[in-house]
Amino acid sequence: SLFGLPDQAPHEQVLLAADPETGLRAILAVHSTARGPAFGGCRFWSYDNELAALNDALRLSQGMSLKNALANLPFGGGKAVIIKPAGDFDRPALFAAFGRAVQSLNGAYITAEDVGTTTADMKGMMATTQYVSGIPREGAFGGDPSPKTAFGVFVSIDEGVRRVMGRDSLEGVRVALQGLGAVGWHLAEYLHKAGAKLVVADVNAEKVSRAQAEFGATAVSVSDILGADVDVVAPCALGAVLNSTTIPALRARLIAGAANNQLATAADGDALQARGITYLPDYLVNAGGIISVAREFRGEGEETAVMNEVAQIRGRVSELLDRIKTSGQTPAREADAWARSLLVKPAKA
Ligand code: NAD
Repeated sequence: SLFGLPDQAPHEQVLLAADPETGLRAILAVHSTARGPAFGGCRFWSYDNELAALNDALRLSQGMSLKNALANLPFGGGKAVIIKPAGDFDRPALFAAFGRAVQSLNGAYITAEDVGTTTADMKGMMATTQYVSGIPREGAFGGDPSPKTAFGVFVSIDEGVRRVMGRDSLEGVRVALQGLGAVGWHLAEYLHKAGAKLVVADVNAEKVSRAQAEFGATAVSVSDILGADVDVVAPCALGAVLNSTTIPALRARLIAGAANNQLATAADGDALQARGITYLPDYLVNAGGIISVAREFRGEGEETAVMNEVAQIRGRVSELLDRIKTSGQTPAREADAWARSLLVKPAKA
């Protein structure tokens, strides 16, 4: 149904924005404003068809509601996707038009970077909307959220390894990284410094060679990365990578990564549990970036304070692992219920 994904609350509003002059075709999805204005990035992507783009916007925006709630941010969940024009286009003009669409929602939705968008795109959009974040600011906190996302995933893996595998550090722990992009690369740096052994794959061969040179990483093909012989898998590329085809081949005991919507379906979370694999839900572990752009937007950003706030993701991972012991639920279903219980206006955040 267009009026709600299975088992999820319906969206409050979804805007289809088209601007023939610039080629803009965008979908702005406001899932929930129960906690505050809907906040979430803008994806710039080529889709097979418009319904695939709509589905992405709906799934990503409801994920943002859960992410922002668990991160205790005073924001609801939203997300936008811009369908990449097939031919030539004027990028600044296209993003200016997108900014006008964001502005037309009068603050119900605040945008920032996501896959395919850059700090320069966000900066340019300031001319057409005030509801944008993730902007490098002279003398003030702001900019690329990816390093903060990577830090949150790192502390989550560290906590997961301690709790699930009983290890007291990441020294010698084998981690497979799917994707060495903005988040994956920073995550590789953190893991390498902590003594983890990296196995990596990316469709971009140059990034793989750099990881081999800088981190002594072992390279495997993109088709073999999820089934690599490792302790931890960190999906940092695409969504829906945990599915009925990939789950039987997994050899890791722990999954924790940055990619949004890693589970293809809720049943895939159950399938992981049945195989004895602990899955730390993406929207719990990858909230570092939204914490960063949210604090920046509110003018409350300061590097150390934001890093400390991101570090609190470790405690929430620990709480989730405690909760599942009591409830007997899978981590995915427990996190979902926990986040939904928080979809109300926060007293203070
Ligand atoms: P990115 O585009 O910078 O990096 C993605 C990387 O994955 C690229 O290097 C790309 O070449 C690689 N890749 C693509 N297909 C692949 C495949 N089949 N196998 C292996 N590698 C492949 O994106 P990013 O900002 O690093 O984000 C990664 C994921 O994390 C996305 O799903 C994004 O939505 C999610 N995420 C990012 C942030 C953030 O702060 N950037 C925050 C939350 C969630």
